[in-house]
Amino acid sequence: MTHLIHTYEQFPIEPVDGHDYHLIDKNGKEYVDLAAGIGVCNFGYSNAKIKAAVADQVQHIWHVSNLYENSKAETVAAKLCPKDYLAFFCNSGTEANEAAIKLARKATGKANLVAFDNGFHGRTYGSLSVTGYPHIKDGFSPLVPDIKFVDYNSDASLDAIDDDTAAVIMEVVQGEGGVNVGDYDWLQAVQAKCHDTNTLLIIDEVQSGMGRTGYKFAFEQFDLSPDIITVAKGLANGLPVGAMLAKSKTAAAFTPGSHGNTFGGNKVVMASAEAVLDQLTPEFLKTVQEKGAKLASLLESEIKPLANVKSISGKGLMIGIHLADALKVGDVISQLQSAGFLAISARGNTLRLLPPLVISEDALASAVHQIKQVIA
Ligand SMILES: *Cc1c(COP(=O)(O)O)cnc(C)c1O
Repeated sequence: MTHLIHTYEQFPIEPVDGHDYHLIDKNGKEYVDLAAGIGVCNFGYSNAKIKAAVADQVQHIWHVSNLYENSKAETVAAKLCPKDYLAFFCNSGTEANEAAIKLARKATGKANLVAFDNGFHGRTYGSLSVTGYPHIKDGFSPLVPDIKFVDYNSDASLDAIDDDTAAVIMEVVQGEGGVNVGDYDWLQAVQAKCHDTNTLLIIDEVQSGMGRTGYKFAFEQFDLSPDIITVAKGLANGLPVGAMLAKSKTAAAFTPGSHGNTFGGNKVVMASAEAVLDQLTPEFLKTVQEKGAKLASLLESEIKPLANVKSISGKGLMIGIHLADALKVGDVISQLQSAGFLAISARGNTLRLLPPLVISEDALASAVHQIKQVIA
């Protein structure tokens, strides 16, 4: 009998241990992890620096509230923020987006938000309200008002951004929505329209950030300069954390009392985030780019020609394999599990790969080989 509310469809597997990029279930079966939680455990399961940092902090205090100075949070903010941004810490992606929406309204004095079909921003009211697929909103209305949804990668969508828009919120690679990559020129046009209309640009990097695409933030590849950035998943390698980063000019709209939370900046979590950021070096990011390029070329030659594969999308180690309707992604995932590989899905019958960034090229090659067997 379960005492858990049935909000998740769960696989009949219980991972209880792990090492590097492998997970081991309670029966002792070992898997190659191609999901990293959901893009969370980017440094895998035996990173010595992260483990040592957390273990050390656990010996001291864990939490003191935000009523006192917090040099750990200062250090993480300094390492995380691009130049001239300031950070606000919370505990999850949805909370980071809530902070972003609130800041955008307060900083602009405007209410309207523009968001995109198939965008995903979280499950609390603000972030759910800007999430662009209808079924996850069923039964929860009324949602936050004054939100317009428009098509991703469509020039017609620019018309929705006008002088009354407080902010545009978007992912540059839509994760949950199907691993849809934004067009460079279109993203540039969205940013230009935001500038013309005094609209803030919020880029949700919760899934695509922290090295996932081979860059600290995926938007760097599109030469964007968002007013607000949100991050979470990979930031502390599995401890709960979120952050909103805002250009200091915009961030100034928040003053003491404007926003807050109890756990944000938690010292154990910050210790982990600092160890993650210390290892997210340009050299490390280059290895992710190289693995991403190898994986992309393998997928192109081995997987794309298969009859049941419609297309392949993604950046770096954030990949979507779009399957024909005849082949259900759930069945592919089960068969991969039997063969010792853990993958996940995304919207639109998409097999999604978000492996730990520390996965080896050999493991990626054997994963592609297995995916090919299963799909064929
Ligand atoms: C996962 C995700 C969120 C929500 O994060 P939670 O930590 O589950 O609240 C928001 N935005 C994107 C792009 C995500 O992938």
